[in-house]
Amino acid sequence: MSNLPEVVIKMSGEMDKPLISRRLVDSDGSLAEAPCGAPKVGILGSGDFARSLATRLVGSGFSVVVGSRNPKRTAGLFPASAQVTFQEEAVSSPEVIFVAVFREHYATLCSLSDQLAGKILVDVSNPTEQEHLRHHESNAEFLASLFPACTVVKAFNVISAWTLQAGPRDGNRQVPICSDQQEAKHTVSEMVRAMGFMPVDMGLLASAREVEAMPLRLLPGWKVPTLLALGLFVCFYAYNFTRDVLQPYVQEGKNKFYKLPVSVVNTTLPCVAYVLLSLVYLPGVLAAALQLWRGTKYRRFPDWLDHWLQHRKQIGLLSFFCAALHALYSFCLPLRRSHRYDLINMAVKQVLANKSHLWVEEEVWRMEIYLSLGVLALGTLSLLAVTSLPSIANSLNWREFSFVQSTLGFVALVLSTLHTLTYGWTRAFEESRYKFYLPPTFTLTLLVPCVVILAKGLFLLPCFSRRLVKIRRGWERDGAGKFMLPTDPMLLEKTSHV
Ligand code: NAP
Repeated sequence: MSNLPEVVIKMSGEMDKPLISRRLVDSDGSLAEAPCGAPKVGILGSGDFARSLATRLVGSGFSVVVGSRNPKRTAGLFPASAQVTFQEEAVSSPEVIFVAVFREHYATLCSLSDQLAGKILVDVSNPTEQEHLRHHESNAEFLASLFPACTVVKAFNVISAWTLQAGPRDGNRQVPICSDQQEAKHTVSEMVRAMGFMPVDMGLLASAREVEAMPLRLLPGWKVPTLLALGLFVCFYAYNFTRDVLQPYVQEGKNKFYKLPVSVVNTTLPCVAYVLLSLVYLPGVLAAALQLWRGTKYRRFPDWLDHWLQHRKQIGLLSFFCAALHALYSFCLPLRRSHRYDLINMAVKQVLANKSHLWVEEEVWRMEIYLSLGVLALGTLSLLAVTSLPSIANSLNWREFSFVQSTLGFVALVLSTLHTLTYGWTRAFEESRYKFYLPPTFTLTLLVPCVVILAKGLFLLPCFSRRLVKIRRGWERDGAGKFMLPTDPMLLEKTSHV
């Protein structure tokens, strides 16, 4: 495989150039003859994946031979330069053979054992969720057990047929690879590079189960934060509904149910965003308090705190999402018919009361400051959200990243608190605001953020901050527990750092 043709070598370094060489494409757009001397690769199977793989391999300068049970039926579906033949013939000459058939059909390939002996089999298969749970042995290990004379390499399972066909620019570029044989892994890695993808060494074939689980994941790490955000939304919505809609209906006979779709949602969203933002910084405060209490950093945090620390990014992004929705809803408030009627009614009342100029200086100032603080808080949150994107985060060094996420994040929390306080102004002290004896919603939302801000301020005091710095540099109080790694390897992987 080391004598890759000229076209392949060029591909690996110049990702911005088209993957399919002009030399290989006919005037009508179909793929023409592969250059002579091109390395030969076999593919067993003629389904969707096999077709996309063949197209990409031919485009990357390989000579492809496809093994099908019925080559006559499927030959027309492959690039002209790919040879489509019977399975026995297809596996006779290539050293690397892709097995693009489902696990349940692996056994039907056993008749090819003799021809396959000594060759590299690339297992591209993906189990379904049920199959993954049912079989303790990965598909790749199962294939290896059926063909002990072959070297099995697990690769390409995370790449969809669509991405293979469209080219690596349109999807995930990383291809995790694992195998028990280093040389075979190297050969397949070179092919991955030549096809414009990026090999990621996942170690021995025993990792295949982990590699096969990758495409089964659906947004891992988001379940708990999303449930938390939804839970907060439901609680605050119910609370706001009781205060803004139910109370006027029950006690004053006023029908304000029209507020449900926009107004109540818009008073709920900032509450969720604000509390979520404070929940990003609360675990850091708890972790610092725990370290001060224990006098060491060499003891694991409790599991719940560990998980919480690991989900801070997702919680922060959900906070940003709610804050952005709140801004959008707020822009839409004046568009509502109910708002226009309210304005006209107010104007009529003003005329009837014979007031020529309605201007409450304090309210004007409150509103100006409140809006400005809200915009600043959202702007700072946007910065946090943008720097959470892997492509941006990768371009920052550790200090820059922690400055944005930690310092600017805290600034966003302070700005949001000021935004909430100027929104509330003196309302917390007005009796009429306690509908059904329930305090205004903003007073509830202030609870956790104020605790976080106060605790952060407390930790800035020299007596605490010096001790914390010492602890984080490895100092231990006499008698504090010594460093102990968890015995469970799963826990070891998940140990958090503050
Ligand atoms: P498919 O379209 O159903 O193709 C499977 C092929 O297996 C058939 O075309 C058939 O080709 C061949 N085959 C060999 N022995 C067979 C037998 N006894 N019974 C039935 N078929 C047999 O499936 P696919 O989507 O290409 O997927 C193939 C493999 O790639 C699977 O393991 C899948 O997990 C993996 N994969 C697929 C994708 C994707 O996006 N589709 C992505 C990653 C991985 P002949 O009739 O010509 O023999």
